[in-house]
Amino acid sequence: MNRLESTLFFALAFLGMVTMLATSLSATPAAADYDLVLSNGRVMDPESGLDAIRYVGIRDGKIAAISQERISGRQEIDASGRVVAPGFIDLHAHGQRAFEAGLQALDGVTTQLELEIGVYPVTAWYEARRGSAPINFGASVGHLPIRQMILSGLTEEDMTNQDIRDRIFTQRNWVDNAASANQLAAMEQRVQQGLDEGGLGVGYGINYTAGATREEIYRMFRVARRNGVINFVHARFMNQNELGGSVDAVQEVIADAAITGAALHIVHIGSSGGGRVPLLLQMIDEARENGVDVTTEVYPYTAYSTFLGSAIFDGDFTRAQGIQYSDIELPETGERLTRERFEQLRGETPERMVIGHAMREENVAMAIAHPGVMIGSDGEKLANGKGHPRGAGTYARVLGRYVREQRVLTLMEALAKISYLPARRLEASVPAMRAKGRIRVGADADIVVFDPDTVLDRATFAEPTIPSAGIDHVLVNGIAVVRDGQLQTGVNPGLGIRR
Ligand SMILES: [Zn+2]
Repeated sequence: MNRLESTLFFALAFLGMVTMLATSLSATPAAADYDLVLSNGRVMDPESGLDAIRYVGIRDGKIAAISQERISGRQEIDASGRVVAPGFIDLHAHGQRAFEAGLQALDGVTTQLELEIGVYPVTAWYEARRGSAPINFGASVGHLPIRQMILSGLTEEDMTNQDIRDRIFTQRNWVDNAASANQLAAMEQRVQQGLDEGGLGVGYGINYTAGATREEIYRMFRVARRNGVINFVHARFMNQNELGGSVDAVQEVIADAAITGAALHIVHIGSSGGGRVPLLLQMIDEARENGVDVTTEVYPYTAYSTFLGSAIFDGDFTRAQGIQYSDIELPETGERLTRERFEQLRGETPERMVIGHAMREENVAMAIAHPGVMIGSDGEKLANGKGHPRGAGTYARVLGRYVREQRVLTLMEALAKISYLPARRLEASVPAMRAKGRIRVGADADIVVFDPDTVLDRATFAEPTIPSAGIDHVLVNGIAVVRDGQLQTGVNPGLGIRR
């Protein structure tokens, strides 16, 4: 070894020591270990049952540590006196523009999924949201938009044009007409295409497509089965008639699930079931016990919302639903309708949204408390800030009114219904959901920090955009989109969830 070589040798040895020292330093807990730490909160995880004070360390958008000892990170949020829970997963979110997504974030939601009606075309829908979503998003491929497209003779490109979509929305050809043999085959092919593009399942609004025959729905279920995905169904009828009522409607899709072997999720059993909720919950449980893969969900309100032209208002609907015309409300003014006023408005403005105060509280509370029933908001696109308050208040309402005030279920049961169970429901067909709905090392850092003593919905039918109270911090993929109860504008860490 000459002088130059020995200098090099010692220089390299020194570098090696520095490297080793740096490695050993970073292995001990240091400020640089975590991007963010939630300190001293009451961590509640519905999967493991953990309910204890912990420090949660977050790194690279994932939960990296759950510790009894104090840990520190580059940022820290004091969660003392607060619950730290998995972010809420909404299986039923129609309103996914930034405005509605922000309201949902303020209600603790970290993932909003449009599964009931679904979308078409699927790729364009995901592309339109990429990089501009505060919370995670996703959608099923929609039987209803596919039916609109095929029966209206539109192209896939037409379906990405909002003016064209708005124009056909209140037409009745795609609602009432039966599909030809060729159109049925085209629908099957489009559903398959939407699933190939990453759609999370197949969505249906059978109640809004009265012309869809039993055969048509059965054939779409077969496509879902072939692909191993769930059918998300708004069932055919929403009333108490013996023929053509809620029981018929639920039996139709349970039969399709049993025949085809496809998985089934029946949306908003509270509104679809009305007075038959107890019987329908029993049928759903019993079908599951007998091997049918069927689940359901409910939103925590006694009123539904839909547009005036909808097939829901065809025929003698007040008698069938057991309501009066005065149970129908205009959200803009609070006006309750008469028969004459209803018919006038339905003729003039079929696209107009109305509220139907149609359900009984005891049935809604029963569904919320029922084991295995999940919560989905059914929050919609608000028109000039008016509409149903469920898009803003569903989750805080469950935690504040049904857990704290009425005690119809425990806090841990409620957290399962709004985070873990929705993730579990989807994960067999949507593997990305395995990392959601849990406070577990390795899970996505979609987390809500809330005050169990003050959490409450504040949105009302008169003012549906008042954010919920008591939701302090909401993290999406490790990034705070709500901080100290304030929505962080321009922060868009939401990712698209696709199969
Ligand atoms: Zn619906």
